[in-house]
Amino acid sequence: MKSIITGGAGFIGSHLTEYLLGQGDEVVVLDDLSTGSLRNLASVSDNPRFRFVQGSILDRALVGQVVAGSDRVFHLAAAVGVKLIVEEPLTSLRTNIHGTENVLDAALAAGAILLLASTSEVYGKNTADSLDEEADRILGSALKSRWTYAGAKGIDEAFAHAYWTEYGLRVAIVRLFNTVGPRQTGRYGMVFPNLVGQAQRGEPLTVFGDGRQTRCFSYVGDIVPALVRLAETPAAYGRAVNMGGSQEISILGLAERVIDVLDSESSITLIPYDEAYAPGYEDMRRRVPNNGLARELVAFEPLTPLDEVIRNVAGAATPGGAGNEAMTLGGSSHDASGDALAFAGGAPRTDAR
Ligand code: UDP
Repeated sequence: MKSIITGGAGFIGSHLTEYLLGQGDEVVVLDDLSTGSLRNLASVSDNPRFRFVQGSILDRALVGQVVAGSDRVFHLAAAVGVKLIVEEPLTSLRTNIHGTENVLDAALAAGAILLLASTSEVYGKNTADSLDEEADRILGSALKSRWTYAGAKGIDEAFAHAYWTEYGLRVAIVRLFNTVGPRQTGRYGMVFPNLVGQAQRGEPLTVFGDGRQTRCFSYVGDIVPALVRLAETPAAYGRAVNMGGSQEISILGLAERVIDVLDSESSITLIPYDEAYAPGYEDMRRRVPNNGLARELVAFEPLTPLDEVIRNVAGAATPGGAGNEAMTLGGSSHDASGDALAFAGGAPRTDAR
């Protein structure tokens, strides 16, 4: 089986690469290394069934060449991370819309199966107890970058669905809810590596807003095998399927767990949103998946306990700063130097502990 992974040098993509090589696949990773890193692929670089191609999904000809002759394509390449999206809306839009169209075309031409990674962001501000795949999308202004991202991923899904209905492309869509694990960087805003890294360095844990917003974190080790099974399940083609964690936790609650599990001396600092992000950010209070369809189609069970995830993420970070890098508050993603936190709006004020 020959598999292509766009975005394979990223956090989820690199775990998927290892998993598919372990299954005996030949794997080609296409990645422009904009947010991913070859460091993530260090464990597979010598594998004779592995090949890395550096390039963008916006390069239509290259995407066509790489995908030709493959059996399946896992399309994970995207501009992700709230911070990056808010700061670079144009690049994000182009990558997420035009890039996906290139991948859809290439998969169709190759006769390959496609797994399209989408996101729970498509539900926007819907705070339902249990979001199923038919739930309404409640989006804010199209001029706010966060909703533009949600809009772009929604367009991707609509494109994929249309390729399935009009051309018969075998494409399954997965909506991922806050996937976390080793190799995820905090540089682009993701809370989990940020908090774990801060706790390990003995710095205050930065909790934005009132910290009562909730998420359901899912472990990459639970997600990756389910992604592969989804691509292999004909009943999933033409559909979108949620995959998220089963435990709802507030961000303040997460910060407390991180400190507890890692036995850290850190305190917790509440930071107002306007000091944390560039304009265009709006948070969502709650996002709870209904995993029923994923359970039915591929026996998905998010079993790894949160405390174990925290320990795994902490254990994977290296002293040199690989992993768990901090985001730069209010500033640009690109000048994130690794460890240092720069506060745009002065020193953090509220100590919640
Ligand atoms: N967040 C936080 N501290 C951080 C980074 C993020 O409190 O250092 C908050 C963020 O405002 C949001 C939640 O954590 O309420 C999850 O953020 P993330 O960007 O990881 O995921 P998403 O908002 O896309 O679910």
